[in-house]
Amino acid sequence: GTIALSDLDKLQVLGHGNGGTVYKVRHKRTEKLFALKVVHGDTDPIVRRQVFREMEILRRTDSPYIVQCHGIYEKPYGDIAILMEYMDYGALDTLLKKTGTFSESELAQVTSQILKGLSYLHAHKIIHRDIKPSNLLVNKTMQVKISDFGVSKIMCRTLDACNSYVGTCAYMSPERFDPDTYGGNYNGYAGDIWSLGLTLLELYLGHFPFLQPGQRPDWATLMCAICFGDPPSVPDGVSDEFRSFIECCLQKDSSKRWSASQLLTHPFVCKHSRCDC
Ligand code: ADP
Ligand code: MG
Repeated sequence: GTIALSDLDKLQVLGHGNGGTVYKVRHKRTEKLFALKVVHGDTDPIVRRQVFREMEILRRTDSPYIVQCHGIYEKPYGDIAILMEYMDYGALDTLLKKTGTFSESELAQVTSQILKGLSYLHAHKIIHRDIKPSNLLVNKTMQVKISDFGVSKIMCRTLDACNSYVGTCAYMSPERFDPDTYGGNYNGYAGDIWSLGLTLLELYLGHFPFLQPGQRPDWATLMCAICFGDPPSVPDGVSDEFRSFIECCLQKDSSKRWSASQLLTHPFVCKHSRCDC
């Protein structure tokens, strides 16, 4: 049945974001734990828009690799809240700090689950656009799920193409309408793959790949490194499979990057898990 907000006890804060707070909550009757993301009514309209987008995506998705949504609460000018399954190990950034860097085989288990989540999203024409350790949640059985759809994009091809085109649609090339079929601008989805590559490298190295350990991010330098430098590479001593996997993700030319479903068949993923390929 449906859960009312008044059926829940707030236990503690799990995380703060821009505009919202995520609480650990307990259902009074069943004592079951959940996570509740709350955005207050007086927050900036941009943040409210992001939460509405997140709700829209959580309503549409149903996958073991995407955080599950149990309820959505909204009032026209009031607080907005999203009730989610509680992931008791928190996000991968917390786990990295708590338990240290990941081994290749641990990473392969994590990778396979993120890839299944991404291939589900991409097949449903959703681009996450914010894949990073703090948006990947883990529970004690080491299930990994994608969360935080605040800046995600739902690709509504025809409408999107028409809306962004000043003039008439009649003269537009096929790939402007349907890039998946006609192999045009594939960048949107490939962006998630780049972010996945950086995330995995960070979990392996223990620090963000474009920065030295402990170095404070300076956005101009970072942007130059990303745009004009070589992509980060794996250190010596890793397996050929891991090296190759990271290279398949961190191609600067987005058309050379592998897709999520291609990466699921990569030896790095297959070697360590019972693969489906
Ligand atoms: P923001 O948009 O503010 O980044 P997130 O949805 O990423 O919000 O949540 C912020 C943090 O809260 C996460 O990095 C994670 O540590 C924690 N968190 C979010 N959802 C859950 C959940 N379902 N279970 C456990 N912790 C969560
Ligand atoms: Mg987040």
